[in-house]
Amino acid sequence: MAVLGIESTAHTASAGIVGEDAEVLALASDMYRPPSGGIHPREAANHHVEVLPGLVERALAEAKLSEREIEAVAFAQGPGLGPCLRAGATVARMLALTWDRPLVPVNHCVAHVEIARVLSGLDDALLLYASGGNTQVIAFGAGRYRVLGETLDIGIGNFLDKLWIALGGSFPGGPAIEAAAKGRTELLPLPYTVHGMDVAFSGILTAALAQSERGADRADVAYSVEVTTYSMLTEITERALAHLGRANVVLGGGVACNERLQGMVRAMAEGRGGTSFAPPKRLCVDNGAMIAWTGALAHRAGVRTAIEASAIRPRQRTDLVDVPWRPAFA
Ligand code: AMP
Ligand code: MG
Repeated sequence: MAVLGIESTAHTASAGIVGEDAEVLALASDMYRPPSGGIHPREAANHHVEVLPGLVERALAEAKLSEREIEAVAFAQGPGLGPCLRAGATVARMLALTWDRPLVPVNHCVAHVEIARVLSGLDDALLLYASGGNTQVIAFGAGRYRVLGETLDIGIGNFLDKLWIALGGSFPGGPAIEAAAKGRTELLPLPYTVHGMDVAFSGILTAALAQSERGADRADVAYSVEVTTYSMLTEITERALAHLGRANVVLGGGVACNERLQGMVRAMAEGRGGTSFAPPKRLCVDNGAMIAWTGALAHRAGVRTAIEASAIRPRQRTDLVDVPWRPAFA
């Protein structure tokens, strides 16, 4: 069995093919990089429309499969940027129609959880999902993935990108901030914004820019922002573990590639007698393989959509999607 997955929720267009047991048979991705500033949804969507057909061809060639061997076509239905989602959904519908295969809708956040879950083998783990547009602590319960805590304003990745661009850098900011912060030790005072299980970043953005205007070194700002915000994420993740009586954490999303964040979460989880796991980078960032794998799970559980009912859902929340492939009260 092989399932094709199409990802196009934000800056990355990607086609992935997985076989049994989440074996990644192929993954072809192409990230839109704006010439300056942040992502413009329509320009990113134009990029996706242009590259997706070629990415699908590349994925089929890499997997050494013909289209007849693809059992289902999965696509990221939401959440994400409307024009970008529409580009991927259009390609997926066209493939499902021409190949006469079921079309399987997938929630992008659930896909980050499922790929981390299968790769880690940690069935009861909590997910810290830290990406451009999303920041959530997620756990499975009663038939759905529940959001236990989340950002009250912008996603952590968008925060890092905005900050770095305002400091004169370019998109994506997260990896550049990580590089700049390495070896630094000067912790500048910044707001630490945890509200119960939730976090917020816009006040920290303002304060970090004010530090820079007062003459703080850009690398010190980078270090201070990493330590402050990653501590916040580690704190809410730990509180969720404590409440649930669990000990294991999996990470997902582009910001989860960050070594400092991975290290802090690992130290916290190990301190509680558990462990943590982050997928390899290409499966941690937005990618078609996680959509394909989640599509395979959903397909086996009988999930499919008619073309007419396959509209994109730009605001589809993690906890609005049924997860019939897991026992509801495991
Ligand atoms: P995603 O939306 O999951 O594809 O993730 C994209 C986001 O991840 C962007 O905001 C990047 O700045 C951020 N990102 C990627 N690599 C890193 C890293 N090593 N450290 C922090 N943020 C990162
Ligand atoms: Mg993502």
